[in-house]
Amino acid sequence: MARYTGPVCRLCRRERTKLFLKGHRCDTSKCPVSGDPNDRGKRAFPPGEHGRDRVRQGSEYLTQLREKQKARRIYGVLERQFVNLYEEASRQQGITGENLLRMLELRLDNVVFRAGWASSRSQARQLVNHGHLCVNGKRVTIPSYRLRSGDLVALSEPAKSLALVRHNADTLDRQVPAWLELNGSGPSVTVLRAPERADMDESIREQLIVELYSK
Ligand code: SF4
Repeated sequence: MARYTGPVCRLCRRERTKLFLKGHRCDTSKCPVSGDPNDRGKRAFPPGEHGRDRVRQGSEYLTQLREKQKARRIYGVLERQFVNLYEEASRQQGITGENLLRMLELRLDNVVFRAGWASSRSQARQLVNHGHLCVNGKRVTIPSYRLRSGDLVALSEPAKSLALVRHNADTLDRQVPAWLELNGSGPSVTVLRAPERADMDESIREQLIVELYSK
């Protein structure tokens, strides 16, 4: 599966907002986006030779495109996958934008991230790829695996003693969303229900994404 392997802070700089793609570093003063845009060391301006000086005319299309790119980058989904999800969301009953976000939230890698076992979604994806996660007792190695209500997600026995997982458990102060329930001291998590709009990322304006794709 193809994936983006370039510098990820560049993606946040392009969207001019923190997308939290780098785990622990995102909460430190090293984050280039959280700084003063006039501070050259911080680089809180879009990437590229003229990123600092370019004044963008905010067309409607550009706003919609940037919102779609932001959502895609937050969840680490490639364009083709994202379009397929949108088409599936539009065939479902209910509000298309919310359906789309719900499907993104129910990805296995996102739940691993939400549970606090990984510091970023890309780290969560790696844990899944390496076979460290079980769903309902069966090993699953597909990060995009879509969970359903009642599913039990657990770390495999060897993964519980991984230094990385232990470090994350000790250092991440992450609030588990209301639609998930941590069991015991956190070795497993249950999907209580599908997430509602209020449970999901408020910074994403999904209506703009729907407008973009329905042109
Ligand atoms: Fe984005 Fe994190 Fe890099 Fe900041 S440190 S720019 S939030 S990936």
